[in-house]
Amino acid sequence: MLIENAMGIFTGMAGEAMRTRGAIRVRDGVIAAIGRLQAEPGEQRLDACGCVIYPGLISTHHHLFQSVMKGVRTAINLPLAGWLRSVPYTYWSHIDEEALAVAARIALAELLLSGTTTAADHHYLFSDSFRFDPAHVIFEVARSLGIRLVFCRGGATKGRHFDTDELVPMPVERLEHMLKSVEVCAQRFHDASPGSLSQVVLAPTTPTWSLEAGELKEVIASARRMKLRLHSHLSETHEYVDFCLSVHGKRPVHWIAEHNWLGPDVWFAHLVHLDDSEVRLLASTGTGMAHCPQSNCRLGSGVAPADAMARLGGAVSLGVDGAASNESADMISEMHSCWHTHRALKGADAVTAEDVVHWATAGGARVLGRPEIGTLAPGQQADIAIFDLDQPRHFGMHDPLIAPVTCAGSASLRYLMIGGRLVVENGAIPGLDIAKLRSDAARVVAKLAA
Ligand code: ZN
Repeated sequence: MLIENAMGIFTGMAGEAMRTRGAIRVRDGVIAAIGRLQAEPGEQRLDACGCVIYPGLISTHHHLFQSVMKGVRTAINLPLAGWLRSVPYTYWSHIDEEALAVAARIALAELLLSGTTTAADHHYLFSDSFRFDPAHVIFEVARSLGIRLVFCRGGATKGRHFDTDELVPMPVERLEHMLKSVEVCAQRFHDASPGSLSQVVLAPTTPTWSLEAGELKEVIASARRMKLRLHSHLSETHEYVDFCLSVHGKRPVHWIAEHNWLGPDVWFAHLVHLDDSEVRLLASTGTGMAHCPQSNCRLGSGVAPADAMARLGGAVSLGVDGAASNESADMISEMHSCWHTHRALKGADAVTAEDVVHWATAGGARVLGRPEIGTLAPGQQADIAIFDLDQPRHFGMHDPLIAPVTCAGSASLRYLMIGGRLVVENGAIPGLDIAKLRSDAARVVAKLAA
């Protein structure tokens, strides 16, 4: 297959290597060549005239189940703790198999339609009260859509204080049960081979409130023994810092460092409230950040020092986070917000469109330990987003390559390809019945609201 006539290509790589031009040849799901290429006899040709090409985008933090909990009125103006209590903690026990499948389908369809080819889902609802396996439900939906899924198996061994009163407490499990379940999940779904569509990660919900401090070393040792990555939430709000300083006498990153929770096989969502020494420690250990600017804005949590960490060579990626705290699981809109928020605070050169694209592509691949995705170069997986600059908001651009980031709005994808397979064509997902998804969503929301 030959992708030709594009206005330009962003490779995902840093610096000067970000921009290139020409055609892209895809063979056996992999990029065979980029540059001045002529079609070979019998080769399928994809016309990218009027389009710009990016690597498929990578979202490194999400909670798919929340996609039927958007815009909950009681929590729309609450910060993290009140929001947690009013949304996920209020609704979790009503997420049945249908609600979970519908939520996952909404979220993954949104991601695909914004040019995303790999998604990490942090799922932390596991309870004996469920008569289904959440991992099975979510992997099935991902498989039907063809997206690469990294399933971060969450959970807790202790509850938070607002678990009490009239709410059904969030499920907790004993540590050995959690670790055994992750091992079983990995045996079933974790494919470590390059180009894998299905991976599993060990992901307790937070090291602060979901685990006993004495369990942290065992958790990271188990992840490394099982050859799985470790993911969690950290320093999303000041509460993390206050809690760690008062209980452990240290800031969160220094505290988890004592428990071996740093390294290139670990990444955390948010990392908003960091001091300079924490940024340096994260960067020097290669510990990853899933930067979620839209969710952090929505909950009033602050702006993570992603730019400072990136300047030190740290591993920065972007994540949309769950739809209950960011109604739009849209990586184009996430990139646009990222580009804006840092500049609003720190000046017009704080973060460039190229930085944001690098974080959303190669940065995501680094954080997920997937060197074969996130960049466009010979030998890489053919995960390719071809954005049509066909809306009036794109007209008049002097530098069309940055248009998807700077002009924002919903993407218009001419094609999206994952491992050489077309998963979006002319802004639609072949085989996905949007009318049915809309009515399924309305039915699930009516049931949850009741
Ligand atoms: Zn989260």
